[in-house]
Amino acid sequence: MPKNDDKRPVRCSFCGKHQEQVSRIIAGPGAYICNECVQLCMSILEDAGDDVEEERPDIPDVIPTPKEIRDVLDEYIIGQEDAKVALSVAVYNHYKRIYFGGGDDVELQKSNILLIGPTGCGKTLFAQTLARILKVPFAIADATTLTEAGYVGDDVENILLRLVQAADYDIELAQRGIIYVDEIDKIARKSENTSITRDVSGEGVQQALLKILEGTIASVPVEGTRKHRDQDTVTIDTRGILFICGGAFVGLSDIVAGRLGRHESGFGASWHDHEVKPEELLEQVSADDLAEFGLLPEFIGRLPVVSVLDELTEADLARILTEPKNALVKQYRKMFAVDGVDLVFTEQAVNAIATTAITRGTGARGLRSIIEKTLEETMFELPGMDDVQQVIVDAASVRGEGLPKLVRGERRLVA
Ligand code: ADP
Repeated sequence: MPKNDDKRPVRCSFCGKHQEQVSRIIAGPGAYICNECVQLCMSILEDAGDDVEEERPDIPDVIPTPKEIRDVLDEYIIGQEDAKVALSVAVYNHYKRIYFGGGDDVELQKSNILLIGPTGCGKTLFAQTLARILKVPFAIADATTLTEAGYVGDDVENILLRLVQAADYDIELAQRGIIYVDEIDKIARKSENTSITRDVSGEGVQQALLKILEGTIASVPVEGTRKHRDQDTVTIDTRGILFICGGAFVGLSDIVAGRLGRHESGFGASWHDHEVKPEELLEQVSADDLAEFGLLPEFIGRLPVVSVLDELTEADLARILTEPKNALVKQYRKMFAVDGVDLVFTEQAVNAIATTAITRGTGARGLRSIIEKTLEETMFELPGMDDVQQVIVDAASVRGEGLPKLVRGERRLVA
């Protein structure tokens, strides 16, 4: 408390007003503040609210509705309309459960999500974007690098460690995070009649993952792996963590087709009449099909929300290049603009990039490297050419039949 022995009138250290001029003055060590200045500080903090919340988001008053979630997904993800709706609802329900579901005797069970779809169709992007919308930490794990405890490789607890790191070691926050487990189809049991030797790569990992998926109190080594015994660990409750598992599940559509073929009714009867796309078959996927594929029934039980993503078409890829908020074409244009150069992709060039990506079969994943290759030489030479105003990428340059066109003019001011 500041000393006020000298009987000088108390003034607010911020605005200088006397005690009599305001309704309250609060004393601190060596300083005073009046109610008006407290009010002003509050409004300054509120204006900067976004930044403050980013640092330490507390339990939100409201969670975005499924429709609001879908609207934001639309800004980043092209197509996959069914998955957008299914995931918006699933994620909304999950956060409703963990933020507002406690306290009574009906315990709301967690619904983790299984995403089925080919490489580069947006599975990771979905998980990542959902975490951003909900403002929760996010981590990615690759199921193929995981091993059951005791074997060489990544323990499942390390997945949790990654989430804890993403939450900057804030355990409370990590407990509400989202983890995307990629290549989940690769830990399927190889055959139904596995021998007595333990199936390290598949079943054991599913068992290990199962625990954290269903909700457990896990002990997470804060550094290194659990194999180093004498180090600090933190305990983390995984009941509030949303797991999104994804995989291409090659061959699953044949399993579905086989099952439907065996039952000549309803969908089964109609799919003989026209050529059925694998996605159409996958829409009919059942728990039995996933079990036949090699997932353990308990594991399937922990992934009650199943969503099928479509293979992206050439038209989708062209839209992905240009439309999303952070579309690749926008990113490259921005990068060139920094040097004062206007980068233009002709419509034919965009289509050619999409066609090339389809040929490579890497979905949207291949787009960046195609652009990178097309612009490589230009990006190498450009900093030395200060009279280039515009670079035009046409279809020929994408196909490797020449370089992007350079439009020269007055000298630019090169930074
Ligand atoms: P997956 O996990 O299905 O293999 P990713 O989500 O990692 O594929 O996609 C790779 C990249 O391709 C993403 O970073 C994103 O830029 C782009 N991408 C993939 N699918 C879409 C989509 N449907 N809409 C927009 N961009 C997409």
